[in-house]
Amino acid sequence: MDTAIVGAGLMGRLLGWRLTEAGHAVTLFERSAPGEPESAAHVAAAMLAPMSELPDSDRAVFHMGMASLEVWPQWLAALDVAHGFDGAIAVAHRSDDALLETFERVLRSRSDEPPKRLDRNSLSELEPELGPAFARGLFLPGEGWIDNRALLDALETRCGEIRYGQRVDLEGDPLWERRRASFGAWVDCRGADAGEPGLRGVRGEVVRLRAPEVTLTRPIRLMHPRYQLYVAPRGNHEYVVGATQIESDNRSGVTVRSALELLSAAFSLHTGFAEAEILALDVGLRAAFDDNVPRVYWRGGVLRVNGLYRHGFLAAPALVETAIQAIEQPELRTCASASMAS
Ligand SMILES: Cc1cc2nc3c(=O)[nH]c(=O)nc-3n(C[C@H](O)[C@H](O)[C@H](O)COP(=O)(O)OP(=O)(O)OC[C@H]3O[C@@H](n4cnc5c(N)ncnc54)[C@H](O)[C@@H]3O)c2cc1C
Repeated sequence: MDTAIVGAGLMGRLLGWRLTEAGHAVTLFERSAPGEPESAAHVAAAMLAPMSELPDSDRAVFHMGMASLEVWPQWLAALDVAHGFDGAIAVAHRSDDALLETFERVLRSRSDEPPKRLDRNSLSELEPELGPAFARGLFLPGEGWIDNRALLDALETRCGEIRYGQRVDLEGDPLWERRRASFGAWVDCRGADAGEPGLRGVRGEVVRLRAPEVTLTRPIRLMHPRYQLYVAPRGNHEYVVGATQIESDNRSGVTVRSALELLSAAFSLHTGFAEAEILALDVGLRAAFDDNVPRVYWRGGVLRVNGLYRHGFLAAPALVETAIQAIEQPELRTCASASMAS
């Protein structure tokens, strides 16, 4: 079947790849120009953290994330994309010990696989450079990270034909109405700009650093009274430090306040960040429905995959599978608004 996807960010590319592999002819319409990405996927830390995210997410997201963790290793091997699945670590400075205790309590109450407590020695065995600064922490086995930009690049030539510089508005767009009949199915993967009823944008800012004096191999979360800082590795001493979470769809550049907070928190995690090179200060919008749970549903004859919020990478394989089932079972198209993913 000829399938058109609007939006070549994370979901558009992954879905395009899996549909292409399944024998569909896929065309993606992407508003941005080649080499000038505007997706949240390009900015993201791309951690796969079903347990660490439990305090901020629904059980449905946890289950999608756990199912997706089974699939990602095969996908990443097939695409030859850098990643790590050696678990994640949470730490807190002594003054914020209570935050780490609360975090642990929430994880224990909501997960069947509680985090493992680390003392200074076991922490040093996992991440030798954290041992001197932190007396204890929590280990979340199985969690991981993906090199998001390498993933998007690897999908570029595998996901179908991407037509750049092609903005498609799925409602009231005469051009789209004319094109509509040319494809057997249309899928909306426009992320925060989809304009779906109830969808909002949540601003996130990150700093990309090259830090030759820092060697951390796993995602590290630092408990903080105002936000949870994380440092996600990218290999070659590069790190994504994030992220702010601001209820706003403002895409303007990273503020001084956010840069100061992210950088000073990174420095408080590891003093080696003092000499790091700032590679980029990036802003992205996470698309979220009121309950922050992703949805796959038909509306107006278009399959909508949206509301991936801060869990797009985490939940992607589960969402892609649901979307493919929906495309391949046309009888489901009569469901005006069925949330098939949650
Ligand atoms: C700071 C930050 C950190 C994050 N960290 C993580 C993390 O650690 N783990 C995790 O799982 N998730 C994370 N996320 C979330 C993740 O990036 C998103 O959930 C995911 O990218 C959503 O994928 P998407 O395809 O729906 O949207 P996007 O990736 O945003 O892609 C949407 C695409 O649609 C295009 N588009 C929009 N409108 C149109 C139009 N009218 N016509 C044509 N094209 C259009 C856009 O240009 C874009 O390319 C993070 C996000 C941010 C911002």
